Amino acid sequence: MNDAPGNRALADRIRIETRAWIDGQAVPAQSGKTFVTLNPATSALLAEVAACDHADVDRAVKAARRAFDDGAWSRCDPGKRKETLLRFAALLRQHGEELALLESLDSGKTIRDCRNEVAHEVPHFFQWYAETIDKSFGRVAPTGQGTVSMIVQEPIGVTGLIVPWNFPLLMAAWKLAPALATGCSVVLKPAEQSPLTALRLGELAAEAGIPAGVLNVVPGLGEEAGQAIGRHSDIDMVSFTGSGEVGAYLLGYAAQSNLKPVGLELGGKSPFLVLEQAAITDSLIESAVMAAFWNGGQNCSANMRQIVHRRHRDEFVARVIERVKAFVVGDPLDPATDIGAMITAEHRDRVEGFLQSGVSEGAQVLLGGASLDDNPGFFLKPTVFDAMTPDMKIAREEIFGPVLGMITVDSDEEALRLAVDTEFGLHASVFTQNISQALQFARALPVGTVSVNSFSEGSVATPFGGYRRSGSLSRDNGLEALAQYQQTKTIWIDLES
Ligand code: NAP
Ligand code: MG
Repeated sequence: MNDAPGNRALADRIRIETRAWIDGQAVPAQSGKTFVTLNPATSALLAEVAACDHADVDRAVKAARRAFDDGAWSRCDPGKRKETLLRFAALLRQHGEELALLESLDSGKTIRDCRNEVAHEVPHFFQWYAETIDKSFGRVAPTGQGTVSMIVQEPIGVTGLIVPWNFPLLMAAWKLAPALATGCSVVLKPAEQSPLTALRLGELAAEAGIPAGVLNVVPGLGEEAGQAIGRHSDIDMVSFTGSGEVGAYLLGYAAQSNLKPVGLELGGKSPFLVLEQAAITDSLIESAVMAAFWNGGQNCSANMRQIVHRRHRDEFVARVIERVKAFVVGDPLDPATDIGAMITAEHRDRVEGFLQSGVSEGAQVLLGGASLDDNPGFFLKPTVFDAMTPDMKIAREEIFGPVLGMITVDSDEEALRLAVDTEFGLHASVFTQNISQALQFARALPVGTVSVNSFSEGSVATPFGGYRRSGSLSRDNGLEALAQYQQTKTIWIDLES
């Protein structure tokens, strides 16, 4: 494992692909336009990337449709599709270190997290879904002796995948892997702040033997490339991870075009509950701080609202503060760094706006958030608020930054009441040594994932998605994710006519 100078030397040698990948080729935008992506840790220009618009999206959709219709991927032998996707996973693993460095440069995420997410988890996702391909069966319905009624799943067709910047390649993999496994063709739009790792996918997909046109990557602005995907009448479904605001636009685009289904994974304001019968262990404290500060809090399932029973308040506060003080904020390429840069200067300023609003509404700052002195990068130190009340802006709106807010309660009933008092429903963590109570809370919380005595979003095998305004009925991950990219057909045969 390299130290920071070693990583920097490797990073300097990385080849950066800036073109779109359409129909098996790296191409500039037809307009010739580009947009810039910065290194958030230095604010330096990293690359000028093809700014795709509706013309490029249309070209990608035509290629994806042709590839879908010719059947070389969508109807090929399942064993062959599996082997090809496994080869893709192996190539991603082989290029894992390079992709991890590129991700860190482009997004300001720590190299430690990038190694885990990009070099390890991303290939694993493709491998896991590849393994499902030759193990998926249809069903025969019980319709009696005179008929046979087969229920089969078919790939939905051309899919549009739009992803955010907080886990750039991982969010893409969450959607690409099941979409490709089912036989769909794909048009992927990465976020404008972090497009570079996705742009390396095309070449590796071609090398693995995925036919031209099956996987297309169109970098560009949301209002242009993203909107063009949302409105395209020959895209059969869209799967989106990002903000509720853009999710709502996509529902509108679908309504105004071809009524395509839209899978939504949106934001959250997830609670972390320390109940009366919790044991305040090192593991609980580690969960609490990671729930708030992992990825600099730029996490849809960040548990920023920490609701703590009064019995544990003093010990919890003291141990959280001690642990947070040990966080290293700074150079993302240094393996010792815990919190890298915020994605953009605007986003850092937005988070600072939340800090000011917390103070002006009366929350108490136990540990102060501020930018790093004399640093051109977009860094923000972690903040811990005490005396947060449920009506404050910082308690209601998604901050998406390194902020932990504490609400002290006098009973577990009050904790539950506050936990559900939100329009979101992505995730919740519940800490108690009472297993019956843990299950009662898990059932009562209207969220897509509940972690008991841990902070975990699950694994590739477990579905992830939101209740309420945190998402639609679709789920990423697990076997459930396959359903987004498939439609169900009934084949009804009369045996007696
Ligand atoms: P965002 O602004 O909604 O952007 C997400 C993607 O949508 C980007 O690729 C963006 O392009 C694109 N986009 C923007 N405007 C568009 C438009 N009019 N039509 C089509 N696409 C458009 O979200 P973000 O700020 O990048 O990400 C943070 C959000 O994602 C948070 O709310 C977070 O909670 C959520 N999130 C949810 C999950 C989950 O699984 N539930 C996981 C991670 C993040 P540009 O890059 O050009 O803006
Ligand atoms: Mg960038």
